Amino acid sequence: MKITRITVWAVDLPMARPYSLAGGRYYDRLDSTIVRLDTDEGVMGWGEGCPWGSTYEAAFARGVRAGVEELAPTVLGLDPRRIDVVYRAMDRALPGHPYIKSPLDMACWDIASKAAGLALCDMLGGRTPGRVRLHTSVPAGSVSDIMAEIDIVREQGYSFHSVKVGEDAEGDIERMRSIDARMADGEELTFDVNRGWLPAEAVAALNATRELRRVIEQPCNDLDQHLQVRRLVSQPLAVDESLVTMRDMLRIIETDAGEVVGIKLGRVGGLSVARRIRDLCMETGIRMNIEDTGGTALQASAVVHLAQATPEPLRRATWICYDRLRRNPVEGGVVNVDGWAVAPDEPGIGAHPDEAALGDPTAVYALDG
Ligand code: MG
Repeated sequence: MKITRITVWAVDLPMARPYSLAGGRYYDRLDSTIVRLDTDEGVMGWGEGCPWGSTYEAAFARGVRAGVEELAPTVLGLDPRRIDVVYRAMDRALPGHPYIKSPLDMACWDIASKAAGLALCDMLGGRTPGRVRLHTSVPAGSVSDIMAEIDIVREQGYSFHSVKVGEDAEGDIERMRSIDARMADGEELTFDVNRGWLPAEAVAALNATRELRRVIEQPCNDLDQHLQVRRLVSQPLAVDESLVTMRDMLRIIETDAGEVVGIKLGRVGGLSVARRIRDLCMETGIRMNIEDTGGTALQASAVVHLAQATPEPLRRATWICYDRLRRNPVEGGVVNVDGWAVAPDEPGIGAHPDEAALGDPTAVYALDG
């Protein structure tokens, strides 16, 4: 089997409600890239790459499309079922840039699963019992802003919230206490700082709120700062933005940096790398939020498959971005049911972008020119 054509779409995804992160970062729409790989045997696969704007991490939407253009001559002609061979070829042609490789890798997994007649979760190690718990992503704001958003997502059935803080450590102490006190029985909560605090601020804020016992995610800008904080606080910690490479994961393990990691497909370079990181976490007992940086029901379905192939309680929570978008040009795929999701049964990812809704492709690269 050979990849014969790569078709690329830019997809505008307006948000249902605007979104903010620490440091004045503001978002009201996402720019996603959907790719379709066709093969000489008629099996095709879909992939998606959607950075959360340009300020969340070292990735931006137009970079995905420029990178796919750069990689197209390498990827065309390869067998998409030999996924590691494809990945090594991409790494030789373009070192680094993991977020560019994720949509191409996702499409290869879709094809390989369809060719095998298996749901993606079965290709990723096998479906585990039960449903995948979903969490929300609650933008930074005042206590009343945060609780207004939580009321909306409670109506959608969610009971696990990732609340964004990190704007100012003094104010965050009060915000964390107030939000924690407003949680119902059975509701779970993470405070996600998104790199917003200096180490000294993190130590002060966390020691002032140590009675809350909530997971604190990515308190500082990088892993060195995180480790300074780790020694001086007692809360369980999560590493998210600082987990990019396999080497980062090895260092997180060596330094006992946290009880939880966030594995985002786009950030680590796609399902192939995420699966290896998942295996290291399983070996070392680190719980995982398995997700991506944004996108439609296509990306949501891919991450739920990886979570579904990861046993509880190691799979902690998964986020399906499209629940807070105004547009989802995809048929089928995972849905939120009372804050939980189940990976589709059909072969492949099981989510189907609607080409009529996607509009004209921005680029087509074909084997024969
Ligand atoms: Mg996070």
